[in-house]
Amino acid sequence: MKVKDLEFREFISTQSVEEKVKALAAQVNTDYEDKAPLILPILNGSFIFASDLVKELTIPCKVSFVKVSSYNGVQSTGQLKTLIGLEESLFNQHILIVEDIVDTGLTLQKIMEELRGLGTKSVEVVALLRKKPAREKNVDVKYVGFDIDDEFVLGYGLDYDGFGRNTKQIYQLAN
Ligand code: 5GP
Repeated sequence: MKVKDLEFREFISTQSVEEKVKALAAQVNTDYEDKAPLILPILNGSFIFASDLVKELTIPCKVSFVKVSSYNGVQSTGQLKTLIGLEESLFNQHILIVEDIVDTGLTLQKIMEELRGLGTKSVEVVALLRKKPAREKNVDVKYVGFDIDDEFVLGYGLDYDGFGRNTKQIYQLAN
């Protein structure tokens, strides 16, 4: 599949993604049974994952989307931005952040710090994909879908310069 100037090939099939999302949701259903968590997906990348995940949740929960971004093109710019769009009160809430992918984990660590400073009861993360740098740095991600190498991926919400989010499967660079 071509997206702008780059060629991508299938990496994780639609079926594998679906199965993984169900398995992650099952863990969340068990762990948060009596906790009525606030699910906090990070836009834009996690919108498809979050949508599929919450459809599998059978527990009472709220969902509120927030935004933060540190990426430009295929490489991290190293710039950090803060959380925007927080409308719910987080005080005394169990927060479950939904991330598409954790790469360096810089974004996530900063967000978790921010949220823990707001009187939350707990702050955990469910990420569909986790790259090597996050594993090496022991970034605190409680629920991980797929551990992958340090490579650029696309699809199922993840973009390349804004394009390529609209697929059911996940792609990687073809060369
Ligand atoms: P981190 O702060 O962990 O380095 O970056 C996290 C964010 O960078 C993710 O939420 C995602 O938006 C973006 N990102 C990291 N790796 C990739 C990748 O391989 N593909 C795409 N499309 N985005 C990525």
